[in-house]
Amino acid sequence: MSGPVTSGGDPIEVPPVQDEPAFEVRDDRVAQVGTTEVRRALPQRERRTVGAWCFADHFGPTASGAPGIGPHPHIGLQTVTWLLEGELLHRDSVGSEQLIRPGQLNLMTAGNGVTHAEEHPDPAEQDAGRAPVGHGVQLWVAQPADTRSGAPAFEHHAELPQVELAGATATVLVGDLAGARSPARADTAHVGFQVALRGAAEVPLAEGFEHAVLPLDGPITLDGRPLAVGQVAYLGPGRAATTLDGGGRALVLGGEPWEDRVVMWWNFVARSQDELATAYRDWQGHHERFGQVTSVLDRIPAPRPHWLPAGAG
Ligand code: MN
Repeated sequence: MSGPVTSGGDPIEVPPVQDEPAFEVRDDRVAQVGTTEVRRALPQRERRTVGAWCFADHFGPTASGAPGIGPHPHIGLQTVTWLLEGELLHRDSVGSEQLIRPGQLNLMTAGNGVTHAEEHPDPAEQDAGRAPVGHGVQLWVAQPADTRSGAPAFEHHAELPQVELAGATATVLVGDLAGARSPARADTAHVGFQVALRGAAEVPLAEGFEHAVLPLDGPITLDGRPLAVGQVAYLGPGRAATTLDGGGRALVLGGEPWEDRVVMWWNFVARSQDELATAYRDWQGHHERFGQVTSVLDRIPAPRPHWLPAGAG
C-alpha cells in the first residue's frame, strides 16, 4: 500500500527518528612516499574528506628510507606538519627556512602555487641518505573558494595552546577546543588537536562538525570501542563529546562537512581535471606560479595525468 489508508482521519503519528551520529572505523591504507611507507587515513574511497581535512598520512615511529622530500609543488591546500619525534628542515618558495620539532606546528598555505622541500636538519646525515624524522603526521586542509587562488604563505608556531581535560592534555593545532584557540590560520571552520591520554578522558566536540580520530602511538578505545594505530574512526556530526581511553596520544580532526567538489591528484587540490592538468603543465614548465626553492635534494617531477590524451602537451 502506498496511498493514504484513510481520508479525513487523525494525522498519522511518526515517531521521531533517533538518528545515531555515524560511527565508522576503517583501516588506513599503506602508501609510499618516496621510499617511506606511511599509513594513509585520508582520503579513503568512502570518506574523502572530514571537514576540510582531505589528506592524513601517519609515518613512523621508525624512520626508514627517504632522505627527506625534494622540492615539489602544491595548489589549493594547506599542509599541516606535526611531529612526535625527530626534526625536519622546511624550505619553501615563500622564502621560509624553518626547523620544526615535536610540539610545534608548520602550516603552509599553497593558494595558487607553492613549492617546498623537507630535509634532514643535519646536512651530513642528509648526504649519508639517512631518514630525517622518526614519527609524525602530514595533513592537508582543502582551501575554500575565496582563498584557494590566493597567495602562498607559511607560518611556524613554536607554542600552541593546551587544554587540561580530566584524564588528558590536549594541544590545539588549528581552530579551537574548549575556548582555547590556536593562532594558526584557518580558512574554514575546522579543528585539529592532539590528545595525550592518561586514562579515560571526555573530549568535547563541536556538534556541527564531523570528526576523525587517529591513534598515534598506541591502541585506544573510543566510546568503548577499540581503535588501533593504523585505523581511523569517523564520527558524524551531532556529538557533543566522545570518550577516549588509553595511555598514548591520539589526533582529532574535525570540521563542518565539506560541500565543495574537490578533485585531488598528486600534490594538487582543485575543482576540476582541467585545473589539475594546468598545474601539472605549469610545474613541468617551471612556471613562476610555483616560485623557487633552493634545496640539496632533487626537484620532483610530476607524473603525467592519466586522463590526458597521449601526445598532448
Ligand atoms: Mn608537500
